[in-house]
Amino acid sequence: MPGTAYVLFHHVMGECNGVRGVWGYVRGGMGGLSNAIASAAKERGAEIRVNAAVAQIIVKNGEAVGVALADGTELRAKKVISGIDANMTFQRLMDPKLLPAEFAEAVRNIDYASGSAKINLALSEVPDFRCLPGNKPGPQHHGTIHLCPTREYIERAFDCAKYGHISDNPIIEATIPSSLDNTVAPPGMHVMSMFTQYFPTCWPRTRGAWRRTRRATPSAASTS
Ligand SMILES: Cc1cc2nc3c(=O)[nH]c(=O)nc-3n(C[C@H](O)[C@H](O)[C@H](O)COP(=O)(O)OP(=O)(O)OC[C@H]3O[C@@H](n4cnc5c(N)ncnc54)[C@H](O)[C@@H]3O)c2cc1C
Repeated sequence: MPGTAYVLFHHVMGECNGVRGVWGYVRGGMGGLSNAIASAAKERGAEIRVNAAVAQIIVKNGEAVGVALADGTELRAKKVISGIDANMTFQRLMDPKLLPAEFAEAVRNIDYASGSAKINLALSEVPDFRCLPGNKPGPQHHGTIHLCPTREYIERAFDCAKYGHISDNPIIEATIPSSLDNTVAPPGMHVMSMFTQYFPTCWPRTRGAWRRTRRATPSAASTS
């Protein structure tokens, strides 16, 4: 479909440890990356505050001069750098009227809708694949596991979302980080991270909607 090739490109354009087109796992889980960035920042004199939600970016005479935290503390600075998305930064943490109209409109028009859902599983053992049997971690568990046998299958998975339902047979891209890193699961056990598609973007975000779907999906009810 037009435009979809970008995602493939996005997935192969990066590199890890000098090898192009591969993805890597962070030993100990993704928090290890945040901790590494935090250590590097602290080494250079940064002070880090956690559990300190920013409620507002303070603007004086057209310049950002600091932030106000949710508990009322005000921190002044020469520059404010935001690591959260543009919508939160410019629409919620400050008055968009303070921004050039064209820029504010561009931010307002960013489409954040996503048709994917992440599902994380705790496993008592690695999957035993029919094409390469074995329930001990092997090369078949190290890479990305794609469950999408044909293009027709992908199209049908998307049809469900197009008409407002979660895919009956979703595309699943799964990884099992514990097959390479024994620090992320108890001995002999595993974690599996599944990136699934497609999910309707108009899905009601209520607990009731989830419960109704679970009741209507026998396989989901038995595994939940
Ligand atoms: C379903 C899904 C699957 C993905 N899979 C992968 C993958 O397999 N590999 C990969 O490399 N990337 C993946 N990504 C992308 C990756 O998760 C993001 O690119 C990355 O997390 C972005 O990091 P960030 O620091 O910019 O934002 P975030 O990780 O969103 O961090 C922003 C932080 O700011 C905090 N925050 C928000 N508002 C405030 C506030 N007002 N005050 C203070 N703090 C605030 C939040 O709590 C959060 O901790 C995936 C993303 C999604 C959604």
